[in-house]
Amino acid sequence: MANYTGPVCRICRREGVKLFLKGTRCMTDKCAIERRSYPPGQHGQGRSRVTDYSAQLREKQKLRRMYGMLERQFRGVFKRAERQGGVTGENLLRLLEQRLDNVVYRIGFALSRKQARQLVNHGHILLNGKKADIASITTSVGDVISVKPKSHELLAIKSALEVTEGRGAPNWIDVDREAFRGTINALPAKDDIGAPVNEQVIVELYSR
Ligand code: SF4
Repeated sequence: MANYTGPVCRICRREGVKLFLKGTRCMTDKCAIERRSYPPGQHGQGRSRVTDYSAQLREKQKLRRMYGMLERQFRGVFKRAERQGGVTGENLLRLLEQRLDNVVYRIGFALSRKQARQLVNHGHILLNGKKADIASITTSVGDVISVKPKSHELLAIKSALEVTEGRGAPNWIDVDREAFRGTINALPAKDDIGAPVNEQVIVELYSR
């Protein structure tokens, strides 16, 4: 996750929603949101004034942190979404989902996006049979994402595949677990994000 090295559960508590940043723990009752569903810190349980700006900011922070991106990177994706034409908010969500590290996570090779990014950065992932070690690559329909044969025995990947088997893969990716492979069969849609995000207010925030 970019440069943030602090406790990640604080991020979910700050945003008031489960962002699934910690792998298997997120599925258990040890999840910090289940235990303390109020913002962290001394004044976490106090009342704070909600303005239009603060609501927009929180929504943007939620989405940015979900994908573990720095502000500069996130804004770069937003600019691309704007240039694509059509509905900017939907473009933004789609571009985020198409990131290679996210696809690795969605397939089930990793338990979190952070772990997926490490797998990509460390060269364990192939894109259409070629090494792809840049997590921000935008994947496309027809792309085949697989684990390098030498990395099939990697414990982190094997256990992630076991844990995520019950979770299933999104409709837009065909997953062949035996072959350590996933094929993108469609572009992801808003419902594939799996978290409540109001992308329109993010567009409003950046249009200020
Ligand atoms: Fe922590 Fe995961 Fe729960 Fe978020 S969803 S608070 S990262 S355990």
